[in-house]
Amino acid sequence: MRLVVIANRLPVTVKSLDPVKFERSPGGLVSGIETFIKKARISDWVWMGWGGSNLRKKDVQKIKELLLNKHRCLPAYVPEKIMNKFYNGFCNRTLWPLFHSMPTLATYEKSTWESYIEVNRIFLKTLLENLEVGKETQIWIHDYHLMLLPGMLREVHPEAKIGFFLHIPFPPPEIYAQFPWRREILEGLLGADLIGFHTYEYTINFLRSLSRILGIEHSMGELVYLDRLLKVDTFPMGIDFELFNSIKGVSKKTKAIKQALGNKKIVFSVDRLDYTKGIYNRLLAFEDFLRRREDWRGKVVLILNVVPSREGVEQYQSMKRQIEEKVAQINGTFGSVEWVPVLYHYKSLSVEDLVAHYKASDVLLVTPIKDGMNLIAKEFVASRRDLRGVLVLSEFAGSSRELGEALVVNPNSVEELSKAIELALEMPPEEQESRLRIMQDRLKRYDVLKWGSEFLETLKGIASKRDTLK
Ligand code: UDP
Repeated sequence: MRLVVIANRLPVTVKSLDPVKFERSPGGLVSGIETFIKKARISDWVWMGWGGSNLRKKDVQKIKELLLNKHRCLPAYVPEKIMNKFYNGFCNRTLWPLFHSMPTLATYEKSTWESYIEVNRIFLKTLLENLEVGKETQIWIHDYHLMLLPGMLREVHPEAKIGFFLHIPFPPPEIYAQFPWRREILEGLLGADLIGFHTYEYTINFLRSLSRILGIEHSMGELVYLDRLLKVDTFPMGIDFELFNSIKGVSKKTKAIKQALGNKKIVFSVDRLDYTKGIYNRLLAFEDFLRRREDWRGKVVLILNVVPSREGVEQYQSMKRQIEEKVAQINGTFGSVEWVPVLYHYKSLSVEDLVAHYKASDVLLVTPIKDGMNLIAKEFVASRRDLRGVLVLSEFAGSSRELGEALVVNPNSVEELSKAIELALEMPPEEQESRLRIMQDRLKRYDVLKWGSEFLETLKGIASKRDTLK
């Protein structure tokens, strides 16, 4: 059976035009799905996604052919003006804060909503013009950029097998109900045969929103909408455990990081610049820890790696300034010629560099205020073959459901976070080992292959159940 993956991003993006060169796209979603396709040995697949904006007509055709023939990618072209309103506007100023339960940061603008409809329509049109949507095809649509597409596709292809997976949280019904286009988005999602979420909490939030807003009830996650059976279920996304557990050639880099910092303990944190990630609170906690525990001064460093993201949204720029000011203040207050408490880097790391940092650290701080899953936490645990290191993890990260042996904290409490840093730095090696061992076993069993296979198997099952009930 053919698999058509549809996501906002393609696994490769155009790097230069003359000559045409591509580069790999960053991010957990892309690498997760790619790894799944490879590990599941799916031979017949195509990936559709945004192929760029503002390209010259002659380039469009050339790039499309190269993408299709060399990378199995089908590009959807969206005019730049619409793309900007869609991506920076509706996706990142409306859906992102609302779905992360931060409704006061969300803006509601009719014109960006219209661009959202338009982009979903462009995706539909591109799909219909280029690919066969028959019984032998599974369509797997990803994430919050494309929540209308399942419904649009269902209208033209009632028989299609459509799965949808949301990679971010789904908010509780009382927050979701504030959304002006709450009905349209739910109806769009209900075009799918299977709707998947990372955690049970998001699944329940969605089901309760369906009941409250559309009056639709379910039984064990199955429900009927417009005379069609469909299913809602939980599939926590895993990682490529083997890759992170046995990556080769990083030991030199790991050693170099450790050597550069003498014998100081290393607390590491890495995330995209985002207000959901709790970066500022983490700094407050580290500051509090240094203030309380004078004996630790000079003996520990925080490597704070912030990955540039969404530079087109102004909230992100002011947040960056705020973080940088705090770093300067901590270093100014506590630092000396011999010791810089916070080493701040604003850049993206390659997988090798990332793993070298995971392996060099004594503590990893993952403290989001809200996060759909958070793969960084899982990757860190998997990479610690030496069974050393402590994960401090926010209970509001989806991954905390599977990583209960971490030091689970409420990131809104500076005291709790600061105490967790202390506990982590002073945890006996035997305890580090036993916690990591249990978490590693779990991540190994439910890796990215299992995630994707279970989703597609469930999709197959519910689509055939739907057909037999007709
Ligand atoms: N990542 C990376 N380089 C970096 C930071 C992150 O390649 O410098 C990758 C990381 O390996 C992970 C993904 O980006 O797979 C981030 O996923 P996560 O779920 O933690 O957060 P998101 O950015 O999707 O909110």
